[in-house]
Amino acid sequence: MANFKTHVNGGIVIGTAFVGIGIFFFDLNMVQSFAIFTMGVLGGILPDLDSNSGKPLPIISGLVSVLIPLLLLGKVGTINSISPEFLISYFIIFYVILNYVVCGVIKKFTVHRGIMHSIPFSFLVAEFAYILFISSGKNMATIAAFAIFFGCIIHLVLDELNSIKFKFGFIPTLSRSSGTAFKLYTKGFLTNFFILCAIIATTWLIFSHFNVQNIMTYGHSIVENILSIKLL
Ligand SMILES: [Zn+2]
Repeated sequence: MANFKTHVNGGIVIGTAFVGIGIFFFDLNMVQSFAIFTMGVLGGILPDLDSNSGKPLPIISGLVSVLIPLLLLGKVGTINSISPEFLISYFIIFYVILNYVVCGVIKKFTVHRGIMHSIPFSFLVAEFAYILFISSGKNMATIAAFAIFFGCIIHLVLDELNSIKFKFGFIPTLSRSSGTAFKLYTKGFLTNFFILCAIIATTWLIFSHFNVQNIMTYGHSIVENILSIKLL
């Protein structure tokens, strides 16, 4: 497998390319451009979430343990019930659950170069990104989805390229890991079935996107209200 730095660089290239496309065709502003860039970089490292020893798991779980509770806030609390004591308890509980329980489960049940190194997983992640950004409009959601999708794809391609070794310095040979990154399915019926169901469910959510958009817009308005809470 290619190393972490190579994957970050791959993600940076994809993120930068989509920022360029976004600015040129959709007139993205600075904040939107940075978010798209982040999606590209995130995609570049995301498939290695299944690598127990790597850096991606702590980085991504740290990010997710802030993003998920923020986005769910609209569902669990009304604006009036959001007090400092509620926020502290809420975020700490989420942090502990996501970092220790969910990460523990991921470490235990994922196999390196399993389903997370596959095209369907990249597609599913892109769909999640679309939902995450839909309240900022279809253009933003689509660019974010493409940025993270191609970030994941470049990761898979880099891993495959890394499995080409040169015998005597010039005869290309494939190592045993060849074909384990850029693939459509993995070993085990249940894992493939689960991913397929997740893709169908997420696609359905996107096509009924008015509901998703409403939920996400409400989540955003709650976040804006938190940010406007005066400390004094
Ligand atoms: Zn990898």
